[in-house]
Amino acid sequence: MWTELPPQQTGTDLRARIFRTWTEGRDGSPSRPRFVQIRHQSVQRSNRAREISGRTDRFAGGARGDLRTPRRCVPTARFLLTLAVVSLSVATAAPAPNVILINCDDLGYGDTACYGAKDIRTPHLDRMAAEGTRFTDFSVTSPLCTPSRAALMTGKYPGRVGLAIGVLRPDATRGLATEEVTLAEVMKPCGYATGCIGKWHLGFVKGMRPMDQGFDSYYGVLHNLDKFETVVFEKEGGMPVLRGDVVEQRPAVPAEMTALYTREALAFIEANRARPFFLYLGHAMPHIPFDASPKFKGKSARGLYGDAVEELDDSTGQILEKLRRLGLAEKTLVVFTSDNGPERNTPGTAAPLRGTKHTVLEGGLRVPCIAWWPGQVPAGRVCTEQISTLDVLPTLGRLAAAKSLPAGLDGFDVSPLLLGEKNAKSPRSTLYSVYGLKQRPLESMRVSAWKLHLSTPPQLYDLTRDVAEGTDVASQHPDVVARLTALARQTRDDTHAFIPTP
Ligand code: MG
Repeated sequence: MWTELPPQQTGTDLRARIFRTWTEGRDGSPSRPRFVQIRHQSVQRSNRAREISGRTDRFAGGARGDLRTPRRCVPTARFLLTLAVVSLSVATAAPAPNVILINCDDLGYGDTACYGAKDIRTPHLDRMAAEGTRFTDFSVTSPLCTPSRAALMTGKYPGRVGLAIGVLRPDATRGLATEEVTLAEVMKPCGYATGCIGKWHLGFVKGMRPMDQGFDSYYGVLHNLDKFETVVFEKEGGMPVLRGDVVEQRPAVPAEMTALYTREALAFIEANRARPFFLYLGHAMPHIPFDASPKFKGKSARGLYGDAVEELDDSTGQILEKLRRLGLAEKTLVVFTSDNGPERNTPGTAAPLRGTKHTVLEGGLRVPCIAWWPGQVPAGRVCTEQISTLDVLPTLGRLAAAKSLPAGLDGFDVSPLLLGEKNAKSPRSTLYSVYGLKQRPLESMRVSAWKLHLSTPPQLYDLTRDVAEGTDVASQHPDVVARLTALARQTRDDTHAFIPTP
């Protein structure tokens, strides 16, 4: 079965609205352009909140059809659109929830017990799955931190926001343009308090940090804690832990991060208990250098890596218990996931999938995803429908009753699926992924159960029968190879997946 790309993935209208600018390194020394940055023309930050709250050109739910209408529509049209929004909101029959989005760093598909791990204990996540829904076919767009987070935070393929390739290091002057509309900027006009805790990795200069991108508060380390990034801060006393823009601690200590982030998350929930809130919790673990608090160290059969994961499990358990104790459990949607597959040469595993981070095999792209919202998200359900991080923004926007969403999204509203509506199916059937650049980029194209790797020669897998991508069936299905290749090239072009470098 074939499904064409939805209209918003063509990107032709967007292409006319963007332009490329060359920027230089922060040290200002090289005159040679170093980075490419994509910005929307003409959209000023000061107008952005008004744009978000007042625009009626697209409503949540690409799957429900394109509701685009001219900005200067007649009052009757506005009235009908309002009715449409009301009726769609009623259709979900769910009150706008608080939202906590927990995004682990490099946690593999097979690293929790409820996803098959035998040597890592995750009783809190297992209970969360038993009380909620566990998704088995939830994928990020890219097997790398920055592009994956860009897609999660914007609902767009990372190429559309100039972040398809590479990780942002601390000296990067490129990042997520201020004008891009983030998850926080979707939730905030709906009356939500918005908090960001933990790793950001979407830009570090003024205009690109969390509090420039719709979050009311920020606490954490913006970067990775590996040597490639900590080296930049050696002369300053080490990697800073920020509260807002103020350094609260130096250096950041890997073993302390999960406990610090958990403390902050619990405090955020407590402080906002009486009002709607959206919390994005970007854990540092179990990205290298993984580590754990003394209470967890030496306890897991998977070694220190397992200790770090078991502490993440405990952290999630503390958050869920806090919600129960405050009487917020039935008012709060909690989503637990990861930004990409496990790092190579670590004890992390994506089993039964093949591949790791830095590959476009399922092990690099498919991640754990558990949704918990007692009374709304069905308990004890395993959902095998295909969804993606691209779908998070339109789905949360719908649940928060956002009046409109930004144009040009690649995601779909999957709230009917999330809420277990009868016969609900995922509107998603495609996913394009890219990693690397120049001579040997890795690219894949997913269409339903077919997964094509644009290698030489191309490889094709039927994920229904072969989720581990072990048996190449390209020679048996040349027509499928041709169609997926064409679709991949089209998506690559439309989403600006390859950005030219100087
Ligand atoms: Mg990562």
